[in-house]
Amino acid sequence: MPAIATLGSHCALQVLKGAKDEGLKTILVCEKKREKLYRRFPFIDELILVDSFKEILEKKCQSTLEQNDTVLIPHGTLIAQMNSEEIESIKTPVFGNKWILRWESDRVMKEKLMKEANLPMPTSVLEPKDINKLVIVKRQGAAGGKGYFLVANEDDYNTKRNQLISEGVISKDETLYIQEYAAGVLAYLQYFYSPLKEELEFFGVDQRHESDIEGLARIPSEQQLKSNKVPSFNVIGNSPLVLRESLLEEVYNMGENFVDAAKKLVAPGMNGPFCIEGVYDENAKFTSFEFSARIVAGTNIYMDGSPYYSLLFNESMSMGRRIAREIKIATESNQLDRITT
Ligand code: ATP
Repeated sequence: MPAIATLGSHCALQVLKGAKDEGLKTILVCEKKREKLYRRFPFIDELILVDSFKEILEKKCQSTLEQNDTVLIPHGTLIAQMNSEEIESIKTPVFGNKWILRWESDRVMKEKLMKEANLPMPTSVLEPKDINKLVIVKRQGAAGGKGYFLVANEDDYNTKRNQLISEGVISKDETLYIQEYAAGVLAYLQYFYSPLKEELEFFGVDQRHESDIEGLARIPSEQQLKSNKVPSFNVIGNSPLVLRESLLEEVYNMGENFVDAAKKLVAPGMNGPFCIEGVYDENAKFTSFEFSARIVAGTNIYMDGSPYYSLLFNESMSMGRRIAREIKIATESNQLDRITT
């Protein structure tokens, strides 16, 4: 059986605990500064200590992973800390589709895939001069909402952008992406697609708690106006959500459309966990502003199984464990190459 490895951050604990529950060896690529934290958890069999996660591209790290027939589970930290070329050059088999991670990081490619999947999206605004309503300005890649800001016109855009540049939050030459702001109830829809079963599973929903936009919402508008800080959408944590059951049909349809679109545009498709992120408006209409083509940290709230997986599995099944189960089944049936890239 292969060993399971991941980077020490994001959802590493859940992923490795799930792998251990499935009887697989677990390896954590761990920054030295976090060694003490991760040594607290007995289900981590081996730590590869690094100064920087980029060391997984180096021979030393790769040969340890190779000796253990490792499958690497990608998550948000991999995308945040490495560029697409680096990720694609990883020699260790990556669970899911490492080629689709480029589509997650690049806003133009992202939009193309979401359009192909027929996901209802907020309109994007090409030039700051075209801003004529409330928009959110985002950075490339999985920045986790840090440095994002809201504006309603071009002047406002220039002021806030300049302020963030002078504070060192964003850089001057950074290409920013502008998108219409969609108001409603946040819902991050978490799925798993198994190419072995050719079946889509709906795992759960989470909400993100983002600072300091949430903190701002707790104070009266007079004080909000006095604050001269540009509020950001930095993710602090997640909490669970269950949907009205009448919304589930559409949730499955969106997930299936996404899987079909990914099959068409980026072989071998959307294998493994993914997430469609958006808001429900007052008519329960969903608008999606984002997807993640790998496990999201919001699945951490269901380490002991999610409400929707308790309907599918008669055992506690986290997303981390589901991944390990897929790897086990694929290994036993000699199909590991169908679920890794
Ligand atoms: P990650 O990769 O960690 O998912 P990201 O950096 O790609 O994050 P987004 O998920 O696109 O960022 O946006 C971060 C947050 O900004 C969202 O969680 C949401 O609160 C808010 N947001 C983004 N786009 C919109 C939108 N069009 N309308 C309303 N809110 C939005």
